[in-house]
Amino acid sequence: MRIEILGVGFDNITAEQAVSEGVRLMNTPGAHYAVTPNPEIVEVCRADPEAMEAVRNADLVLADGIGIIYGAKILGTPLKGRVTGIGFAQGLMAQMAQNGKSLFLLGAKPGVAEKAGERLRRQYPGLRIAGVHDGYFQEDGPVLEEIRASGADVVFVCLGAPKQEKWMRANGEASGARLLVGLGGCLDVFSGEVQRAPEVFQRLGLEWLHRLAKHPSRIGRMMKLPLFLLHTAGEKRRRK
Ligand code: UDP
Repeated sequence: MRIEILGVGFDNITAEQAVSEGVRLMNTPGAHYAVTPNPEIVEVCRADPEAMEAVRNADLVLADGIGIIYGAKILGTPLKGRVTGIGFAQGLMAQMAQNGKSLFLLGAKPGVAEKAGERLRRQYPGLRIAGVHDGYFQEDGPVLEEIRASGADVVFVCLGAPKQEKWMRANGEASGARLLVGLGGCLDVFSGEVQRAPEVFQRLGLEWLHRLAKHPSRIGRMMKLPLFLLHTAGEKRRRK
């Protein structure tokens, strides 16, 4: 069942269930894709019908960010919990490593995906890195050909939102992969270029605060969070 927040339907599942569902999709013929919207992306979708369409059409819509959990609570339809994109990716890679599945890393600045691939290979023995490509390409065709030729089962698409969501919707089939996952800045973290927030921040749902302290220029983007909560409160009044 999906829980609607400002037009985006979120799957009401735990982090473990999300990984199981990812594994199921990875083993089901056809192309599938997963998205991990946070409040900022929900706000982007409200202003961009193509982005909304891409997010709504995903096979798996995971509630990434404490703001989404608050939003669901405000609306009186609480979600089971937060499912961070990075946690989902880690759970999926652990399963893939056990089953000899292969992963293509797409996105981030040149060199980052290679570095992420090397580190992930060491962290998940058994995981096959089918290929990598940076996220600053002009034409989709050659990149899709590369992914298809690599025979990857899964592609992590890290082009930032909403570019990655639109890209997966348009190109999932042509990639030949079973599952594509939109993961924003995850390759920067997997490569070691960007540090994830300390565990205590993660537990308290304060990763955004850590990010803001490290990159104060993100303040403009983060102001979307209060706006999101305001819009959610408005939605609650309308639903009464
Ligand atoms: N990026 C990319 N191609 C683009 C624009 C962005 O590969 O055309 C990458 C960028 O280098 C970064 C990621 O997409 O690695 C977006 O990171 P951000 O932290 O903005 O994403 P978030 O997780 O906040 O959605």
